[in-house]
Amino acid sequence: MTCGACCATFRASFHWLELASAGGTVPDELTAQLTPHLAVMHGTHAGQGRCCALDGAVGKQVSCRIYPQRSSPCRDFRWSGEDGIYDERCEKARARHGLPPLMQPHAPPTNPDRAA
Ligand code: SF4
Repeated sequence: MTCGACCATFRASFHWLELASAGGTVPDELTAQLTPHLAVMHGTHAGQGRCCALDGAVGKQVSCRIYPQRSSPCRDFRWSGEDGIYDERCEKARARHGLPPLMQPHAPPTNPDRAA
């Protein structure tokens, strides 16, 4: 909601069986073939781009246009501090976009979206 750094940093690739045309959920038109077995979200091919399904401004207000249909890697990505667990990849993506850390290793999370 207020971050989106991971969606504008990492390659979002997944097995082609997750494509809508194969019985999955991810709209084919938002993807490209990465390997014989993997599809990738447009914009994230090089691993440093921005997913074509990401709306808004990273670090301010963002949303995923296909949130209910997103692929398993998107569903599985953890924000740093989720369940009290530090996540280096999340923190790296945030740092790349000039955003402050959500959590220091072994410290309580500070994500305002998830604060109790
Ligand atoms: S599909 Fe949605 S959750 Fe996945 S990388 Fe793109 S914007 Fe982010």
